[in-house]
Amino acid sequence: MTFAIHGLAVARGVAIGRAVLVAASRVDVAHYFIEASQVDAEIDRVRRGRNAVVEELVRLQDTVAQLGPKDAPHELKALLDVHLMLLQDEELVEGVKHWIKERLYNAEWALTTQLEVIARQFDEMEDEYLRERKTDLEQITEKVLRAMQGVASPVVPSGQEKYRKRGPDQQDLLLDDTVDVPLVLIAHELTPSDMLQFKQGVFAGFVTDVGGKTSHTAIVARSMDIPAVVGARTASQLVRQDDWVIIDGDAGVVIVDPSPIILAEYGFKQRQLHLERGRLSRLLNTPSVTLDGEKVELLANIEMPEDAAVALRAGAVGVGLFRSEFLFMGRYGNLPGEEEQYQAYRRAVEGMQGLPVTIRTVDVGADKPVGGPKDEQYLNPALGLRAIRWSLADPAMFITQLRAILRSAAHGKVNILIPMLAHLNEIRQTVSLIDEARASLDRDGVAYGPVQLGAMIEIPAAALMLKTFLKYFDFLSVGTNDLIQYTLAIDRADQSVAHLYDPTHPAVLHLLADTIATCNAMGKHVAVCGEMAGDTALTKLLLGLGLRSFSMHPAQMLSVKQEILRADTSKLTVWAQEVLASEEPSQLLQ
Ligand code: PEP
Ligand code: MG
Repeated sequence: MTFAIHGLAVARGVAIGRAVLVAASRVDVAHYFIEASQVDAEIDRVRRGRNAVVEELVRLQDTVAQLGPKDAPHELKALLDVHLMLLQDEELVEGVKHWIKERLYNAEWALTTQLEVIARQFDEMEDEYLRERKTDLEQITEKVLRAMQGVASPVVPSGQEKYRKRGPDQQDLLLDDTVDVPLVLIAHELTPSDMLQFKQGVFAGFVTDVGGKTSHTAIVARSMDIPAVVGARTASQLVRQDDWVIIDGDAGVVIVDPSPIILAEYGFKQRQLHLERGRLSRLLNTPSVTLDGEKVELLANIEMPEDAAVALRAGAVGVGLFRSEFLFMGRYGNLPGEEEQYQAYRRAVEGMQGLPVTIRTVDVGADKPVGGPKDEQYLNPALGLRAIRWSLADPAMFITQLRAILRSAAHGKVNILIPMLAHLNEIRQTVSLIDEARASLDRDGVAYGPVQLGAMIEIPAAALMLKTFLKYFDFLSVGTNDLIQYTLAIDRADQSVAHLYDPTHPAVLHLLADTIATCNAMGKHVAVCGEMAGDTALTKLLLGLGLRSFSMHPAQMLSVKQEILRADTSKLTVWAQEVLASEEPSQLLQ
């Protein structure tokens, strides 16, 4: 039966495909496809994890047997028996093998997928006692996952080809069955590093239960240029493995088990979007200049060094934001050293072939966990030890990163960008650690290059003390995603307050307008690198406010360029002041 689920539209387009479910787990597990040659090793990892838990439970049983009924109540013994029985259950064991062998899921993914399959069966049981055994099943699965964490195999994201060969039976395809089956990912939650694993083009679309429009998971989906819906609340419970699903990334709607008529309609929409892209691609070599001759710089936001090639292909004249934290995420305590970082930055710099690359120092924390013990639990992670605060809390780690960036500057034009600064003493510490990194490279006789130093304006406090920032920095870049989050006190990753996340709120626009105007007046370079820069509904407003440097995902660049080519800044400047003076700016933007 066809039904629709509503969420937040985060990445445009239409995807039609079979659902691949990533089940929620209380243990942070990686999801990736393995090579066929790794199947036996993955099955063995699960076996070893399971055996370790069986041994632990048997040991506990012995201890319990030696204690009297007063110290070890009968229920405890019964519980251990149930756990042992569940662990040895054929359906669990065989199911896990199935996902590994047939779908090439990594061991953890296979285990959590099978847990989900069995948990749904428990949910449907009449008997309350049996229904409650679901919790036991979750507990033992978690134990096995934890036992496996010590024996994790390296992450090897592989192509879709192998999956397709082993994919679902294609006989009953509603679409043209001469084509491969596209896959869409449905998950309760995906970390940005999970998304990165899938960046190899395995999936045609994403849906998550949680997340806001500018959560980092949504940002990565946008950078992959595939339709995505987040904040779809119960999608991962309502959609079943292999269901046919349409993701309408423009409307934020997920249609499950679509009828042939709906499928035909969306097939048409897909083709229209394809044609539109074709038309836009003609703008690739057109200079980005407004009708009245104002040159506008279009820069790329990237997550990995390999994205530099995508940026170049989209016509970017540099990288305005390299989110270096993606090198640090999902590493489970094993953070990248200087050499690994240097090689990564160097690849990005060389990849841009002489164009500038702005490398932002690590911005982990909040919705970008590094994985492992460094992720402490904070009550309010977005207000906690994030970004530059995290770096300054571990100067040795920070210097390692600074040395790596400075070394990469020997291979091309590099700017260093510091996230989340708000205090003068943070600025001073940062500047002095950069000096220290240079001095240590001098001492070691290691080559490095000159860099421009920039700060992100993403905390209202920073936007309100611009003169101080301009004294210490060569350029500024406005991180509107966080500037909105912190100005309006809206958690950007929380879908329950997503309706309050408003880029056109007068307070946000005033902070943004002041920052641009002050920089322009002082002759300092200023860019916007938050999602506002790639939103075509806001291009004219930003131009009217005086912005001439936009940094965005390569996928958004041509649509923004189209807006620029149609703009006349002499008229927009007057209009932008009207918008700024309005109580309801959004009314003037329609
Ligand atoms: C921002 O906050 O706007 C920004 C670009 O940084 P991030 O989205 O990575 O926090
Ligand atoms: Mg930010």
